[in-house]
Amino acid sequence: MSTGSGSLIWFRKGLRIHDNPALMHASKSSNFLYPVFVIDPHYMKPDPTAPSPGSSRAGLTRIRFLLESLVDLDLSLKKLGSRLLVLKGEPSDVIVRCLKEWDVKKLCFEYDTDPYYQALDVKIKGFASADGIEVFSPVSHTLFNPAEIIQKNGGRPPLSYQSFLKLAGEPSWMSSSLSMTLSLLPPVGNVGNCEVSEVPTVEELGYEDAQQEEFSPFRGGESEALKRLRESIEKKEWVANFEKPKGDPSAFLKPATTVLSPYLKFGCLSSRYFYTCLQDVQKNVKKHTLPPVSLVGQLLWRDFFYTAAYGTPNFNQMRGNRICKQIPWKDDDKLLAAWREARTGYPWIDAIMTQLRKWGWMHHLARHSVACFLTRGDMFVHWEKGRDVFERLLIDSDWAINNGNWLWLSCSSFFYQYNRIYSPISFGKKYDPNGDYIRHFLPVLKDMPKQYIYVPWRAPLSIQKKAKCIIGRDYPEPVVCHDSASKECKKKMAEAYALNQKLTGLVSEEDLINLRRKQEEDKMPVVKNKRQRKLTDGFIVPQTPS
Ligand code: FAD
Repeated sequence: MSTGSGSLIWFRKGLRIHDNPALMHASKSSNFLYPVFVIDPHYMKPDPTAPSPGSSRAGLTRIRFLLESLVDLDLSLKKLGSRLLVLKGEPSDVIVRCLKEWDVKKLCFEYDTDPYYQALDVKIKGFASADGIEVFSPVSHTLFNPAEIIQKNGGRPPLSYQSFLKLAGEPSWMSSSLSMTLSLLPPVGNVGNCEVSEVPTVEELGYEDAQQEEFSPFRGGESEALKRLRESIEKKEWVANFEKPKGDPSAFLKPATTVLSPYLKFGCLSSRYFYTCLQDVQKNVKKHTLPPVSLVGQLLWRDFFYTAAYGTPNFNQMRGNRICKQIPWKDDDKLLAAWREARTGYPWIDAIMTQLRKWGWMHHLARHSVACFLTRGDMFVHWEKGRDVFERLLIDSDWAINNGNWLWLSCSSFFYQYNRIYSPISFGKKYDPNGDYIRHFLPVLKDMPKQYIYVPWRAPLSIQKKAKCIIGRDYPEPVVCHDSASKECKKKMAEAYALNQKLTGLVSEEDLINLRRKQEEDKMPVVKNKRQRKLTDGFIVPQTPS
């Protein structure tokens, strides 16, 4: 056991040295510092039954990104005379064991609004305070403290972006400068009997058959985050003119947005530092775009969703969520699997889902396309199912932002124009008429002529043969007919909205079952067999899946 005052900095997110108030506080007036990361089996334990390599909760691409971020953090700590102590196990058990074993007077960790960490923190804070250990848990993952915004709004989160902006104002920390570097850290204390290791490799975590044809091009870590940030803000005009939702969702070699989201997710990049850099650029240009469309506006969307999520019980589900429309979504595992496994027969949708599986990142409008397709656009599958797939596979998977955007895209909350549906054919074509994005992510279609790349089922058999891609054998036929499916979805949404309005939001499980039954009965006649297939919107209606 060490003597003197020791501090423990528990890294969860916030995997950085710059602008890290918890690390700063832990290093002040401490003789020893224990920088700890816990490998949590809840997130990291290999699950051979999962639909793609990874654990049940995280795809391998994100696990790899996290390990890269830890290696980078360890290197930075070593340059400051310290190192990362990696431990394995249920985090609250591990941290409590460390606190018992080591002579720690201060426990520091960044405040986390995710329900998983909220529950862990209650346990740990309870143990620490009973043991007389000081706990320091600052808010530094977001620009604002969600609790303060909710308090300013009388205890409820603002549910529109504009009202959020009004309440938020300028972040309070802007009046002082952020601490960007540390010169030296206290040495690591004696670790006693605690089993401490270096950052493991994916193989050491048990991912032996981690072979993937294509890895994500994005490397984890603070160094990479700061490099990427510099590259973005160097393009002053680009920053000044940034306007979302403009931008090409099919641009994959040079994405149309910053791709800083995975670094913000793990806190390899401080959102406050990002914000400060953007403010500096804006001060030095004559004209710039404004929120909600500007880059600063994008960061504010992030805080908007964090605040809404923090202040809304059951934000991640339909039932018991007061801001979520109650909709009789279908429980259709076949459709869900076709969507998840990039087998919908719509190349634009399947290419995006392949990019998700391989890279763990897609452009915002690409996410819009597939989320709309799964839910209110074509398949009418529950948004929670799509949310789960994104949550597992995205490298920027973020509890508040992911749930918030799924609520939005499914017209369950925040956005209600369910008649505005993304076409799985013409939307992508507008940006990428040649289909280069599709050809890259779906090589089976690489030789399909431009005319048919978004609608390969319309290609005559001779052309399919020449392109070495027979539809129905090498690439699937469409699982739904967009034209009729989207009409049916709009009708169902209208009925669900009417029910929500009539019952002023108090829709019971039974009301939903009744509406679902009625909708099943009203369902447009199912096309029975090949002979009865008819032409709709110029293409063959495939059989409606049961
Ligand atoms: P940029 O356009 O460069 O924006 C900079 C930063 O602003 C982003 O890194 C992000 O932190 C924030 N931001 C941008 N758009 C949004 C938004 N709509 N909502 C909240 N914050 C935003 N983003 C996540 O970070 N994690 C998720 O799990 C996630 N799930 C999503 C699910 C769906 C269905 C949809 C439609 C969007 C989701 N997004 C999510 C939001 C958005 O698509 C990504 O943040 C963005 O595409 C990331 O790319 P970027 O860093 O290049 O963004």
